[in-house]
Amino acid sequence: MACKQFDRVAQFLNLPEKTQAIIKWPQRSLSVTFPVKMDSGEVRMFSGYRVQHHLALGPTKGGIRFDPDVTLGEISALAMWMSWKCALVGLPFGGAKGGVCCQPAEMSKKELEGLTRRYTQELIPFIGPQKDIPAPDIGTDEQIMAWMMDTYSMQVGYPVPGVVTGKPVTIGGTLGRKEATGKGVAFLVKKITELLKLPGPLRVIIQGFGNVGSVSACQLVKDGAVLVGVSDSSAALYNPKGINYFQLLEYKEKTGRLAGFPEADEMDGVELLCQHCDVLIPAAKERVINEVVAEKLRCRILAEGANGPTTPEADHILEERKEIFIIPDILCNSGGVIVSYFEWVQDMQSYFWSEAEVFNALCRILSGALDSIMQFSHENKVSTRMAALSLGIKKVAEAKEMRGVFP
Ligand code: NAD
Repeated sequence: MACKQFDRVAQFLNLPEKTQAIIKWPQRSLSVTFPVKMDSGEVRMFSGYRVQHHLALGPTKGGIRFDPDVTLGEISALAMWMSWKCALVGLPFGGAKGGVCCQPAEMSKKELEGLTRRYTQELIPFIGPQKDIPAPDIGTDEQIMAWMMDTYSMQVGYPVPGVVTGKPVTIGGTLGRKEATGKGVAFLVKKITELLKLPGPLRVIIQGFGNVGSVSACQLVKDGAVLVGVSDSSAALYNPKGINYFQLLEYKEKTGRLAGFPEADEMDGVELLCQHCDVLIPAAKERVINEVVAEKLRCRILAEGANGPTTPEADHILEERKEIFIIPDILCNSGGVIVSYFEWVQDMQSYFWSEAEVFNALCRILSGALDSIMQFSHENKVSTRMAALSLGIKKVAEAKEMRGVFP
């Protein structure tokens, strides 16, 4: 999917074949297998990966995913998207991604710590504040980042907060990182709502109620929107009259899942995506909006909180459905990496910002990137996704061409 998108944009931009070949493939891929002692006394083997897509603009940056679907191919695609995303929003990073194939929900805290530390140990020659800086993604959080930072620091012999972002604030994290991706999604939705002059209150459906989905929901509800549908891996809930976000959050925190929440009806997860709403936010996994779903969508704004939620086949259909405005993933969820960049800068300078400084700077970058996309899309008569990818890929291509081929 990532390669198909790249080929289409490269053709549109008329990139020389040599440049295409240089920036299409991941520069470095690491594949590791390592043992972890489980609580039962058994020693289990796990597979993990880290892919650095390109190093033309600076060190690489990207999340770590703990999920049973993790493969080298998935991680490579996600690393490539990180490259276009960082370039689009003007960060001095190449893209990276990492992951371990595991079921974090079925592991104890001790087992997760063992797995994180052992995986980090394998990554030590590959990562570092000037080399490659991991962050949280699906199935990982502040605690996992703290263990990664601790493992790396213990090895080099001094504290290195800048080796990961998305850490707890007490050990060099930034204020606002945990909420950054979801708040960025909500900020962009608000901007597009104004642009399209949609009357409120906005009716919102969200797939995924983890970090990105729940924070987007919280911010949109605070801004006056009505949450009519929401799903997680346990259930999809729908109530056209509105679901009380705060009761839902309390229920999820108590039970660990959305299934069984009494104030809404359960329905099929794919059907939920196709219900009538103003804003649909996929905030779970890739490839959930395929050509069948794309035909059936009944939203005005598709805000891609997740990475790669829409397949290229679905994209062709959506390009014809001009009534749906797409906020493409590499812009929509870029709040996370933008605030990670702020965290890295703060760590390098040992000088920390207020939450207001973080969010003002985030909104400034998101507004600028949105304006560039709108202008490119208008001038070249292409979709917002083509515009966003073109701007990101063009910047990486220019950097690669300027630096030339070594030796
Ligand atoms: P998370 O692990 O916190 O949450 C994922 C959520 O998706 C969970 O609620 C899970 O139950 C749900 N889910 C999984 N399969 C589902 C399905 N089939 N249907 C409905 N829900 C399902 O992960 P996250 O950090 O919120 O990441 C979500 C997406 O956002 C991913 O694509 C990730 O790459 C992307 N993203 C995350 C960040 C970040 O800062 N965390 C930044 C940029 C992009």
